[in-house]
Amino acid sequence: MTTQSLANSLFRPEVLALSAYHVADAQGFIKLDAMENPYTWPENIKSAWLESLRDSPLNRYPDPEAKQLSTLLKQQNGVSDGYSILLGNGSDELIQLLLMALPPSASVLAPAPGFVMYKQISVSLGLNYLAVPLLADSFELDLPAMLAAISEHQPAVIFIAYPNNPTGNLFDTSAINSILAAAQGLVVIDEAYAPFANDSFMDKLSDYPNLLVMRTVSKLGLAGLRLGYLVGDSGIIGQLNKIRLPYNINCLTQLTVEFALAHQELFEQQTAAICAERTRVLTALNALNALNALNGITAFPSAANFILFKTPHGQADALFNGIKQQGVLIKNLNPQGGLLTDCLRVTVGTPEENTAFLNALTKSLAA
Ligand code: PMP
Repeated sequence: MTTQSLANSLFRPEVLALSAYHVADAQGFIKLDAMENPYTWPENIKSAWLESLRDSPLNRYPDPEAKQLSTLLKQQNGVSDGYSILLGNGSDELIQLLLMALPPSASVLAPAPGFVMYKQISVSLGLNYLAVPLLADSFELDLPAMLAAISEHQPAVIFIAYPNNPTGNLFDTSAINSILAAAQGLVVIDEAYAPFANDSFMDKLSDYPNLLVMRTVSKLGLAGLRLGYLVGDSGIIGQLNKIRLPYNINCLTQLTVEFALAHQELFEQQTAAICAERTRVLTALNALNALNALNGITAFPSAANFILFKTPHGQADALFNGIKQQGVLIKNLNPQGGLLTDCLRVTVGTPEENTAFLNALTKSLAA
């Protein structure tokens, strides 16, 4: 028996049918494809950080509950008694953990386009994944369609990214409130891009017992550490905690996030710089459109650290490749089809990186 047929005979069909999550090789490129913070830390902060790690007990397992870090995150997010926090190796792991707790017959619902891991993990676990398209012009939630899907399929979990990836917008809060009220299952408000948005559902936990709020330190500027957290009712979080692997947050991540949380002002400055550049890039993209109305692009407003834009019909792949040939890597969403046909997504980088992107796009449009 070949190893391939061994795998075929052992693994679930839904696993065999999956494609691995592809991450483009960014070596040598200006990297504007993955919503990372482009800034690192000043030398004095780096030295203080290294010093704080000097005596880390690498020979020991980390604190399995990351108590100190959990307490800090609870304080920082104003999480009150009765609510708990669950830490994950990135919020990706928390999505997996939550879905792993569901019975095989469960349904999972999310608007589309949305964050790809909701579907990828649901499908890998054999769950019934349902996508409800957003409204075409505004990328708003189609509330009647969402409510109809909830009533028909009674999803165990609904994921709503706020702001949404890849569209960048904050959905109408009254639509989300209606979904929270109608859902019999859990509703995860995924606030991965919270550092760039001025709104949150964290203070609505007491209004809805089925609400879970998920966050990550990745977009803030700590993507390499892999730390996400899920906040919600202690009864629900307590159950999920049973299937968490005991040492999922390594000791260097625990210590480094604690160190970083003590240097909030640094992240606030970086986030403010990114938001200012977001305005500049959006304005520049719209100006490009005005210059060349027939052959122009349409950029969508964003409350996150990236901007989605639509290219002239049929040109997204060529423009993506043209920009790449000039050394700038962004994300081509055109292959995903549906509302993302003709769409590209650019992460907001440093002023220099953004200028390089805008120049590369302008040149590619003219080619
Ligand atoms: N949620 C959303 C909406 C995202 O866009 C991403 C990352 N692209 C994640 C969660 C995963 O973040 P993490 O790095 O914490 O796994």
